[in-house]
Amino acid sequence: MRLPKFRYIEPKSIEEASAFLLDEPGAKILAGGTDILPNMKHRVELPSVVINIKKIPELNTIRQDNGVIRIGALTPLKKVYESPIIAENLSALSSAASSVGSYHHQTMGTIGGNICQQNRCKYFNQSQWWRSARPTCFKAGGEICHVVNKEEVCYSAYSGDVAPALMVLDAIIILQSKDNSREMPLDMLFSGNGKAPLNLKEGELLTEITIPGKAKDGFSTYLKSANRESIDFPIVGTAFWASIKKKEYRVAFTAVDRKPLRGGSVEDFLKGKDLSEEVLEEASQIASKEASPVKTSVYSPSYKRKMMGLLLRSAIQEAMGREK
Ligand SMILES: Cc1cc2nc3c(=O)[nH]c(=O)nc-3n(C[C@H](O)[C@H](O)[C@H](O)COP(=O)(O)OP(=O)(O)OC[C@H]3O[C@@H](n4cnc5c(N)ncnc54)[C@H](O)[C@@H]3O)c2cc1C
Ligand code: SF4
Repeated sequence: MRLPKFRYIEPKSIEEASAFLLDEPGAKILAGGTDILPNMKHRVELPSVVINIKKIPELNTIRQDNGVIRIGALTPLKKVYESPIIAENLSALSSAASSVGSYHHQTMGTIGGNICQQNRCKYFNQSQWWRSARPTCFKAGGEICHVVNKEEVCYSAYSGDVAPALMVLDAIIILQSKDNSREMPLDMLFSGNGKAPLNLKEGELLTEITIPGKAKDGFSTYLKSANRESIDFPIVGTAFWASIKKKEYRVAFTAVDRKPLRGGSVEDFLKGKDLSEEVLEEASQIASKEASPVKTSVYSPSYKRKMMGLLLRSAIQEAMGREK
């Protein structure tokens, strides 16, 4: 499959990249390219200009600053899960990064590209030839949705592995443009709009992810159910962070909604409790009702809900008996 025609640019700084984004509304960022290039080959993303930011050196770093872990957006996933700072202290993040696609996706793919990846749907992530059998759907520029018959709403599912892990670690992101920089909790990056999943302002890029030192004081894990272990998006992914001593817990899911989802009800239920078999059973039931997935993949919504409960059950089991 061939790429469509586009203009190619290699900026040397964030400011230069942002200026190109502002000048050319049809431009898109390319980091590792493992998400955007297949989408371009499928003709579901057709940027007029591709801005390759991979050569901006300061964005490929992992460092600790007063206990805060700072990860540049262009850090490859392999470098993330191989980093001793992360492997030893933030298991959820290292598990999530090492579960992405195949080894090649982990080597080429960046943490920023993983977070900012496009939402997925079985009617969207297909070749032009496959899609030509049906009217073009809303996300691909048409006027209907093949999943839910409602005007102008796209239900495509956010399916990144890394975002839920970062969410339970209370990650903050830094967004930068030519003249501005702002930071926000990662949760706020996601719009919940399947057609335009990110709350990025014009000219903005994700430049850094920071994880507070307190995240290291708890146990964390990321569990993924996928069709093939060797290379596949999650059917459901569940991230869990627990401070056993303080009886505080955080839960997040992926691939069940238009954005990665915090498990608010199950967190409220767990708060202040010791982890036990009874607690685990009830938490698993509550977790399976945290989302209302629709049929954007070959897996049924009821199967996904069941997996949300089962994965959280296994995550809590892993946490039981820990000291932190
Ligand atoms: C066969 C296959 C299997 C895959 N399996 C998985 C999987 O299991 N789990 C998973 O999570 N993903 C999976 N992916 C998707 C993809 O490989 C990963 O998400 C990867 O981490 C994307 O990173 P990248 O750097 O290659 O992103 P790119 O493709 O370069 O970019 C992805 C998107 O993010 C935007 N972007 C990139 N960097 C920035 C930035 N700094 N600021 C603002 N916007 C930015 C781009 O414009 C683009 O829209 C798979 C892909 C394929 C083809
Ligand atoms: S949910 Fe509907 S509009 Fe969105 S990608 Fe799927 S078919 Fe298209």
